Amino acid sequence: MKVIVIGGGASGLVSSIIASKNNDVTILEKNSSLGKKILVTGNGKCNYFNSDFNTSHYTNKLDIINDENIDKIYNFFDEIGIVSRINNGYYYPMSNQAVSIVSSLVTEVNNHNIKVVLNTVVNDIRKENNKFIINTNNGIYTCDKVIYAVGSKAMYDTDIESNNYKILENLGHKITPLYPGLSKLKTNINFKELAGVRNDSLLSLYIDNVLIKEEVGELLFNENGLSGICVMQLSNYANKSIKDSEVVVKINFLNKLNINTYDECKEFLTKRNNKLPNRTLSLLFDTVLNYKLSNFIIKYSNLKLDNYLDKLDNKELDNLINNLINFEVKITGCSNFKESQIVVGGVPLNEINLNTMESRIVDGLYITGEILDVNGDCGGYNLGFAWLSGIIAGENI
Ligand SMILES: Cc1cc2nc3c(=O)[nH]c(=O)nc-3n(C[C@H](O)[C@H](O)[C@H](O)COP(=O)(O)OP(=O)(O)OC[C@H]3O[C@@H](n4cnc5c(N)ncnc54)[C@H](O)[C@@H]3O)c2cc1C
Repeated sequence: MKVIVIGGGASGLVSSIIASKNNDVTILEKNSSLGKKILVTGNGKCNYFNSDFNTSHYTNKLDIINDENIDKIYNFFDEIGIVSRINNGYYYPMSNQAVSIVSSLVTEVNNHNIKVVLNTVVNDIRKENNKFIINTNNGIYTCDKVIYAVGSKAMYDTDIESNNYKILENLGHKITPLYPGLSKLKTNINFKELAGVRNDSLLSLYIDNVLIKEEVGELLFNENGLSGICVMQLSNYANKSIKDSEVVVKINFLNKLNINTYDECKEFLTKRNNKLPNRTLSLLFDTVLNYKLSNFIIKYSNLKLDNYLDKLDNKELDNLINNLINFEVKITGCSNFKESQIVVGGVPLNEINLNTMESRIVDGLYITGEILDVNGDCGGYNLGFAWLSGIIAGENI
């Protein structure tokens, strides 16, 4: 069978290696080299998988993440010789170099006699008489089966990426609305003076007053709002609602100290104040919070830095406590596609047979990776899905 894989990225490389065992495989890749996006993953170290690989790390349910398929992923890594370093469940190559993952994949592509055609942009696909006709800037290609592995518009948001979605629409697929995913969040509060400050926090995302998701992790303030892995995780749920709903993040800055309720916070502050008398509010937070953050919270609570805890009236104390453990911030926007790590949305999963990755709309068309409406957490889950969908498509073609 003549198979064309469109896109030589994560899922395209894996599917082509596996499909090539029984088929004549060609990869069409728009870039001048394979696996370019993989190079930037995990800050150049490639966080390629996670030991906690399960469906709870995705915005939609993925029954194909089962023991049998997880074994297939580990076997694939093993077969292509990847040696891992695992940090809190996050998989990296021992070399700490994303380029070594790309090199391992490309070497296998070469060893399997897969044809690679670089600098070739696919513009259109038609199906006529059971053959696919693929129109590119380098001429027309025909084949029996297609693996469509073009990724998303995250990081690269040009006409080519927009057209990738149109190609599928022209073939009869729907595309669910697209939003930046794993992105920073913009806020109604100006955090400019906190830019660069980090704090281990508990973040709770509310959409129209309904609690949607909680995340614990290192919150990072920046010029335009909030970032950090915990914020990026929430963005997968928040970004699609920003325009039409009230999206709010409540922050507990003291979660790391196991202070989660009003009473716990009041007890902590009172005890500290009794033990350390004559400390101003500002000094009371020494070593507890970054001083820029604690001063910001005191001022945001309409209190003076040189005020004293036991001089506060009940309303002032309530306000301070609330801002320490329940700081409310409205989400007004997110970073754009170019600055985000994934795209939320894509081909709806009900249009795909997930056991084979074959389209339910077009026979012989297999769709893998991020162009599908699969949105994973940070931590190796998006590459995890790319590998898995690539393996399933490759095996079933
Ligand atoms: C900055 C950043 C960091 C990330 N870090 C991580 C991480 O640490 N861990 C993790 O799990 N995920 C991470 N991701 C997400 C991960 O990179 C993607 O989810 C994954 O690469 C998707 O795989 P894919 O096969 O769907 O697409 P890709 O790997 O993007 O491959 C698509 C390929 O198709 C080619 N292509 C596109 N259109 C055409 C066309 N029309 N014709 C021909 N070729 C075409 C592209 O050039 C590309 O080579 C990160 C993403 C970014 C942007």
